[in-house]
Amino acid sequence: MSRYLKASYEKMEAYTPGEQPRDMEYIKLNTNESPFAPAPSVVEAMTAEQVELLRLYSDPTGKSLKEKLAGLYGVKPENIFLSNGSDDILNFAFMAYGQDGAVFPDITYGFYPVFGELHQVEFDEKPLNADFTVNKEDYLNQNKLIVIANPNAPTGISLDHAAIEEILKSNPDGVVVIDEAYVDFGGKSVYPLIEQYENLLVVRTFSKSRCLAGGRLGYAIAPAALIEDLEKIKYSTNPYNINRLTLLLGERTVEAEPYYQEKCREIIRVREKTAAELKALGFEVLPSDANFIFAKTSAMDGASLYSELKKRGILVRHFTKERIKDFNRITIGTESQMAQFIETVKEIIQ
Ligand SMILES: *Cc1c(COP(=O)(O)O)cnc(C)c1O
Repeated sequence: MSRYLKASYEKMEAYTPGEQPRDMEYIKLNTNESPFAPAPSVVEAMTAEQVELLRLYSDPTGKSLKEKLAGLYGVKPENIFLSNGSDDILNFAFMAYGQDGAVFPDITYGFYPVFGELHQVEFDEKPLNADFTVNKEDYLNQNKLIVIANPNAPTGISLDHAAIEEILKSNPDGVVVIDEAYVDFGGKSVYPLIEQYENLLVVRTFSKSRCLAGGRLGYAIAPAALIEDLEKIKYSTNPYNINRLTLLLGERTVEAEPYYQEKCREIIRVREKTAAELKALGFEVLPSDANFIFAKTSAMDGASLYSELKKRGILVRHFTKERIKDFNRITIGTESQMAQFIETVKEIIQ
């Protein structure tokens, strides 16, 4: 660190992304990417001609992709905001709506407290219940920025819509962000509620269910006034926040909706199979609506299982936080990857 850095950034601890090692080829079950390639029509869209067009700026309004997403969800293009990965939207939300503080669970996406610190937003981390569900009562009548990942990460557990509606109703003076990064794997989106609640900001990403993590594309669905706020911040930081190629691939992705629905069904099927196999090996597995499972075994601690797996070429995600240090988060890969994972776990614990 240099002596020139602004004091408020000095103590800030940056977010640590899941490891992306380059030393060897791993079965990568650690950052919730899709094991599947994008749809063939998406892959084929990337032509030499499109690369040549990179000499031109991208469309800062993202008009065409917004229209396609609006069509898919039955909302208006004014209800859609596009971003360079959904992390950008979460960042903007803390920047824009954190003035009275923020509230989110103690065990959730690790980026929320980082954004809190970055923008000097005071935040209150509410403990999850003993069964790792979100305690709705903690979020009522706060009138602050509320951020809930639904399904939650790294647990995979969903909060029901009635609870979210109560939270929306009881916080008329605070924006409620529902981060739906994993909603396509068995959860249910709350975006239809944007018609009724002016404080609802739904955040989505192409990174998980749309097989496009490296493309960096996220979007928000929200009442038009909230979208205007986000656009204002975007135009004050990086108007061309999404590159031309990603915008193009995003459009092709929306058009290939049935392909992705099928891949999500496949992930759900393999998830249920893997969870049952882990339980048969004596693991505790939390119920998941996501493309990962959160599991622990009494046979060994979480950190050791993580490193034994890594030695054998399988990467999972381990968190050191006290309450969840016995668990590992395991991304659902292909059926054969998961079979290999189960075989390797057997070998380690026996
Ligand atoms: C992966 C993830 C995101 C963001 O991913 P992007 O790649 O930036 O779109 C947001 N929220 C949660 C809970 C996630 O797990």
